[in-house]
Amino acid sequence: MRANGLDWVPRVRETPAAALAGSETVGELVTVALAALAEGVRDRGGPIPAGGPTAADAAIADLPALPVEGIGAEAAIAELSAILAAGSADPVDPWCAAHLHCPPLAVAAAADLVASVLNPSMDSWDQAPAASAIERALADDLARLAYPSADRPDALITSGGTESNLTALLLARETLGADTVVVSGDNAHHSVARAAWLLGLPKPVPVATTDDRIDLGALAATLAELRRPAVVVATAGTTNSGAIDPLTEIADLTRAAGAWLHVDAAYGGALLFSRHRALAVKGLDRADSIALDLHKLGWQPIAAGILVCRDRSLTALLDTNADYLNAVDDTEAGLPDLLGRSLRTSRRPDAFKIVVTTRALGTSGLGLLVDRCCENAAAVARAVADHPALRLWAAPSLSTVLLRPTAADDLPPEEGDELVAAVRRALLDDGAAVLGRATLRTPTGTALWLKLTLLHPHATPADYLPLLDLVAEKADRCR
Ligand SMILES: *Cc1c(COP(=O)(O)O)cnc(C)c1O
Repeated sequence: MRANGLDWVPRVRETPAAALAGSETVGELVTVALAALAEGVRDRGGPIPAGGPTAADAAIADLPALPVEGIGAEAAIAELSAILAAGSADPVDPWCAAHLHCPPLAVAAAADLVASVLNPSMDSWDQAPAASAIERALADDLARLAYPSADRPDALITSGGTESNLTALLLARETLGADTVVVSGDNAHHSVARAAWLLGLPKPVPVATTDDRIDLGALAATLAELRRPAVVVATAGTTNSGAIDPLTEIADLTRAAGAWLHVDAAYGGALLFSRHRALAVKGLDRADSIALDLHKLGWQPIAAGILVCRDRSLTALLDTNADYLNAVDDTEAGLPDLLGRSLRTSRRPDAFKIVVTTRALGTSGLGLLVDRCCENAAAVARAVADHPALRLWAAPSLSTVLLRPTAADDLPPEEGDELVAAVRRALLDDGAAVLGRATLRTPTGTALWLKLTLLHPHATPADYLPLLDLVAEKADRCR
C-alpha cells in the first residue's frame, strides 16, 4: 500500500546521472571529463581534425542525441568530451589562427565552471546577490578605464560585439529619433548592418575606406549631405585586418555634424590594457558608446562582451519593469534593479570569470599578453615580407597578418583568388592549419588574402615559420 500519493514518482534524484551540481559531484565528473578531453586532444594531434565535415559528421553518426534510455553521467561525459575534443578546432594550437577565436585562460575557464555550478541569473538581485555586485564593480571599473574623464560613464555586460553593436544602435535611435541612419565604412563588422535591419533603420550609408580604414574626406562629404540624424560607426580593429580607424579625426567630424559616434572596439579595445599600445586607440573616449569583447584579446571563454557608454543616462534607456523581477516597491526598498542592464532576461554571470581573471593577472598582466600577440604579429609579418614565395598586405596594426602566395599574383585576379581559397581549404582538409580569409579592396577591384589572427599569448614567431613554408608549398601544389 502507498504511504502517500507520491510513492509512484520515479526516484530520479537517486540516480547518479541526475545528481545536482555541487563541489563533490562536479569534481568527480570533471576529473573524468578532463581525462577524456586529453585523450581526444591526443587523438586529434593537430589544430583541427583532418577530413572536413564528412569526417566530423561520421564521428557522431552513431550517437543518438535524444536516446530514450541514458548511459549514465560518467559514461556520457567521457564519451562526448572525447568526441568534442577530438573534433574541435582548437585555438590552444598556435596554427588554429583563422578567427578572433581565442584560447581561453585556465583561470577563466575554471571560474566559468564555478559560475555554472552556482548558476546565478542576472535578471534579478534575488537570483544573484554577489554576482550582481561583482558585475556592478566590473562595469564601473571598465567604464572608467574607457572614459577616464567622463562624470558618469557606465557599462553593460553583453554576449559579444554583435549584441553590443545592436544595443548601441538602439540607444542611438532612442536618443536621436526613429529616422536615424547608420553611417559606416565597408570595413565595419557585418553585425552593424544587421542591427540596423533589426531595428528598422534605413540601410546604412556606406563610406569609402582606404587600407581598411574609413576615408576622412568621404566621411566629411557624407555627413555634409545628410539631412537626418546619424550614428557614425567606426572600428578599432577590423575583423579583416585589425586596422584601426582614425578615431580622433572621426570624432571631430562626427561632433561637428551633431551625429552620434559608436566605436566597435570588439578587437582593438583590449589595447586599453597595454601601457605601450593604448595610444593606438587614442580618441576612443570621444565616442558616445564603445563595444569591447574580452572573448577575443582578453582570453575569456565565450561570452564576454561589454558595451560602454559615455553617460549613465544612455544605459538607463533600457530600463524596463516586470513586477516579478523588479517591482517598484522592491526597488524603493533598496533591492538593486538589474532587469534594465541587458536586453536579455535570464543571463549568465559572465562578469565573474572576467573579474577572476583581472584579479589574477591585473590589467597590467592582460596588457602584457596583448603586447605579446602584437609583437608576435609584427615578427611574423616581417617573416612574410622576407619570404620569397609570399607577399605581406601591410604591417599589422594589431595581431592580424594578411599574406598571399606570390603564385596567386602571377595569375589573372579571379584565378589568383581561387588559388588563395584553395590553399586555405587544403590546409583545413589536411587538418594541418586553420587560416582565415579576407577580401580587401585594391585600386582596381578586390583581392583575397590569407589571414592569420594571432591571439595565442604564449606562441612565438618561431612557431609560425614552418607554417609560412607550408602555405608556400601548398600554393605550389594547388596551382
Ligand atoms: C568579433 C567582432 C564582432 C562580433 O562580436 P561577437 O562577440 O562575435 O558577437 C563585432 N565587431 C568586430 C569588429 C568584431 O571583431
